Amino acid sequence: MVEALYMKDSLVKEFPAQVASVNGKFIVLDRTSFFPKGGGVDNDTGDITRLSDNMCFKVVFVGKFEGVISHEVDKEGLSPGDKVHCKLDWDRRYKLMRYHTAAHVISGIFSREYGLLITGNQLTIEKGRIDFNMDNMDLDLLKKGIARANELISQDLPVKIYTLKREEAEKRQDLFKLAIGFPHDLPEIRVVEIVGFDSQADGGCHVQSLKEIGTINFLEAQNKGKNNRRMYFNVL
Ligand SMILES: [Zn+2]
Repeated sequence: MVEALYMKDSLVKEFPAQVASVNGKFIVLDRTSFFPKGGGVDNDTGDITRLSDNMCFKVVFVGKFEGVISHEVDKEGLSPGDKVHCKLDWDRRYKLMRYHTAAHVISGIFSREYGLLITGNQLTIEKGRIDFNMDNMDLDLLKKGIARANELISQDLPVKIYTLKREEAEKRQDLFKLAIGFPHDLPEIRVVEIVGFDSQADGGCHVQSLKEIGTINFLEAQNKGKNNRRMYFNVL
């Protein structure tokens, strides 16, 4: 079992590790803080440096394959047992955390306050996308929702992480609206709570309080077939 350091502490920027297995350019470590692409959130990138010769391997992609986090590096050469020092591209990760937390605020408002069902999302460092169920495109409502999101951000609510026993979590349907990077098969469920607003079962990385998001900016909205509306935003 690879220890996912970001689940307990999303602020781990550097960490020591050991190479557990190698398949060409795909590297499994005994522990990692690199977030694998999943649940609509882009993966981290960064460096893996071998201690014995200081050789640096660039992490170009991180994914989860059959439950195991695997790091794709730019060249072959690492071997099982190698001791390494790992470093995230923190600017990228921090931006993804801001986008991810912004997505919680937006989805929380659209689902709780406007009764819309969130059907998907995709978050990169350039922009965020949220899909939801809406009969007719209502641009005014979307813009009103974004204004409401920014109002909530200005209250700077704290974001807390904790775990619940699976049986307790399953009694709370409100926890499963977003399901970003959420592992369904664990005895404990990780919960991300924007205190006083919304809680979600979630395996991702978030900022610690809403003001860190900055300002959410509406970009555009598109019709994507029956009932399906797609909204793009960025954070400034
Ligand atoms: Zn989340």
